[in-house]
Amino acid sequence: MRALQLVEPGHRLEERDVATPNPGPGEVLVKVGAAGICRSDVHYRKGHPEAGPLPLTLGHEIAGVVAATGSGVRRAEGDRVCVHYQLSCGDCPYCARGSEQFCPNGAMLGMRRDGGFAEYVLIPERNAFLLPDEISLEHGAVMMCSSATCYHALRKARMTQGESVAIFGVGGLGMSAVQIARAFGAGDVYAVDINPAKLQLAATFGAVPIDATAGDPVEQIRQASGGGVDVALELIGLAATMRQSVDVLAPLGRAIAVGVGAEPVDVSAYRDMIVREAEIIGSADHLAQELPGLLDLARRGALDLSQIVTNRVPLEEEAVNAAMDALEQFGDEVRTVIVP
Ligand code: NAD
Ligand code: ZN
Repeated sequence: MRALQLVEPGHRLEERDVATPNPGPGEVLVKVGAAGICRSDVHYRKGHPEAGPLPLTLGHEIAGVVAATGSGVRRAEGDRVCVHYQLSCGDCPYCARGSEQFCPNGAMLGMRRDGGFAEYVLIPERNAFLLPDEISLEHGAVMMCSSATCYHALRKARMTQGESVAIFGVGGLGMSAVQIARAFGAGDVYAVDINPAKLQLAATFGAVPIDATAGDPVEQIRQASGGGVDVALELIGLAATMRQSVDVLAPLGRAIAVGVGAEPVDVSAYRDMIVREAEIIGSADHLAQELPGLLDLARRGALDLSQIVTNRVPLEEEAVNAAMDALEQFGDEVRTVIVP
């Protein structure tokens, strides 16, 4: 089968012919119907965070159709599924606590194990979640990281009814964050970006657009909110916007770090945290147990991905690397999906 693999960090993904895997006991082979390209894939291609062992097929936003099953499996050929990218043992103390992202025996598809930028992907059956008929494969795919990460981050924020939220970066992740925050009962939701079209789209989901090119976004939000917000999500991965997500907090506010970046952020325990009892919280991935609730939001239309998938490319080296180049440069697409 064809697969797009990271062979060497800092270089373009390569189209390679690899063996189509055979499902063993408890496994299913999924024919990829759609695979989203996440900013994290751009980071892996660059080499930070380091993905591997190489060569590795990237792709962790995956949905498709079961093509073959191993022994002892209940899923059947033809089932439409979306893929939970976190593999875990189910047995260790972290899995027992429901925090399977930290399973020492686990692995992330598309970062540690071959992922979905291929014709087929091999997964344990329990990572295949049935996709409701109302949700397309494209939407199911991008929900498996971009929406699921925001769902988890808002839960980590302990956001309660009526609280105000600032979303830094309304790209692939941020457009879901705006909608999920509203579905969770947020009060005002401020969407910060530098791209006018993305700000306009976020506004159609009910956000107050904050154009970061028109002046300090922290000042703009402070003015609009009368002092600051209860929750701020950083969904870009820049030190400057991480800093802004802390600066914009009201007393008792929580800043959630989601965006991946290499630069350190300067934080003062007294000025930033103690005097406001503010919290800075890291949010990693999402949990299998969160997926039913997330799928239900999309099934009910509270999470609408139809305008978030803005671009489709074939499973080809040139097209996929070009889409990743554009994403790296903060281009205009919200989410690109590979349709093999
Ligand atoms: P994206 O490029 O689609 O979105 C980023 C958005 O930020 C874009 O809309 C861009 O216009 C905007 N932006 C750029 N510079 C800005 C600035 N100075 N001020 C305001 N807005 C600015 O990326 P994505 O796929 O949504 O991913 C976002 C980040 O989340 C990435 O760093 C990714 O690696 C990370 N991520 C983390 C997790 C996790 O579990 N923690 C999971 C998935 C993705
Ligand atoms: Zn991702």
